[in-house]
Amino acid sequence: IPDFDGMRVTVMGLGTFGGGVGVTRYLVERGAIVTVTDLQAADALAGSLEQLRDVPPAALHLGGHQDADFENADLVVVSPAVPLDNRWLRRATAAGALLTSEINLFCLGCPARVIGVTGSSGKSTTAALIAALLQASGRRSWLGGNIGESLLPRLDEIAADHLVVLELSSFQLEPLDAIRWSPDVAVVTNFAPNHLDRHGTLAAYEHAKQTILRWQQDEDIAVLNAEDGQVAAWPVKGRVIRFGESVDEGEHVQIRREVLEVRIADAEATLFTAGAPLQGRHNRANIAAAVAAVVAATGSANSALLEAALSQFRGLPHRLEAVGAAAGRLFVNDSKSTTPEATVAALEAFRRPVMLIAGGADKGVDLVPLAREIASRAKGVALIGAVGPELERLIAAAQQGQRPFRHVARSLEHAVRWAFENSDEGDVILLSPGCASFGWFSSYVDRGQQFVSVVERLRLE
Ligand code: ADP
Repeated sequence: IPDFDGMRVTVMGLGTFGGGVGVTRYLVERGAIVTVTDLQAADALAGSLEQLRDVPPAALHLGGHQDADFENADLVVVSPAVPLDNRWLRRATAAGALLTSEINLFCLGCPARVIGVTGSSGKSTTAALIAALLQASGRRSWLGGNIGESLLPRLDEIAADHLVVLELSSFQLEPLDAIRWSPDVAVVTNFAPNHLDRHGTLAAYEHAKQTILRWQQDEDIAVLNAEDGQVAAWPVKGRVIRFGESVDEGEHVQIRREVLEVRIADAEATLFTAGAPLQGRHNRANIAAAVAAVVAATGSANSALLEAALSQFRGLPHRLEAVGAAAGRLFVNDSKSTTPEATVAALEAFRRPVMLIAGGADKGVDLVPLAREIASRAKGVALIGAVGPELERLIAAAQQGQRPFRHVARSLEHAVRWAFENSDEGDVILLSPGCASFGWFSSYVDRGQQFVSVVERLRLE
């Protein structure tokens, strides 16, 4: 770890939700002369600035970047939200500054073994579940990365015999090439086209995701989805543990409906998952991935303990979260679904008829497969966001017969009301957009909260 005392560091990207707060705190506390800069102005960043009150940086340059902050810096810490290819970073590199990221700084300094989790969907659920299973097995663990608060300011509290669970997005993985670092246990839930608006090509996105395996050593472990054709073929250096319904060779966790068969080194166990609140086939895959990672990292499989922990884990907010019932309809908030795959998984999770609310911002993803799945699985669908009209057209083209009923809504409130009015007792009214939230909402959290508010109003009427 470098000595930060007196080092001139520019933190590029503070973020509305405090993404840059942890790294700023860490650097200021270690004596660095920190400049925080963000394209957004102070009022948009008020919440994040508030969190820096007790560790004020040397300078705050908000509402735009200044060349001098990049030309005179020793180190630039780039937020995962910032594309690496921009003129300020080119200037910084030309002037001799080093570029890094918060996750890179954390990984360089972390004394404990790290379980990294990536994938196109299921990262947060799987990472949080791994942390819960570790806790239940009495192992001191930490959860961070793309989820929760920054672990960087907590580095001093992390000991060598702890385990750290990091959810890693493709934007957090990309900079790891610079330090040639991959986690001790790397979990890949699945891989599907995503973030092509920023990574450009599918190959670039896949290359970024594969960073989770690229720098592993012989003794490291890869936990891979056996059913995902792409992931199953990714090159691995160390041990590999596969999970899925069809896998029964090598080290593996096989999913047989509500039963998991675990065969990892000397650990053999049969787990019953029927009591787990996490619902749907995709969540059985997440559970299998999490169990594989925990058994591999701890070297033991205590089925009673793991089953008990699984039955207590209720899932995370905004992911297939039941948020209320009215007139015999169940309302489910899956606002975190920002990809078509997540919405397909959500549709598959219910046996009851589903009135779906889908659509959002346009990320350049092919919507045809999503339209087909909606046409064959949903009873009705209300379309929201910029892609609403286009998605409606694609569903109409894919549909056979009357269903699904379709409606292009002007607001989320209209969408929910329309879905409610056109539903019957016993139906599920599901918000699972399959698209990014920007445009109509400030984030998926905002989108989910607005959904919950409309549901509350409906229940009172
Ligand atoms: P991520 O952190 O990768 O975005 P989350 O666990 O937050 O993943 O879940 C995001 C969305 O994807 C939710 O809508 C959830 O229901 C859905 N999902 C979760 N796991 C999977 C999976 N293994 N396959 C497909 N969709 C999934």
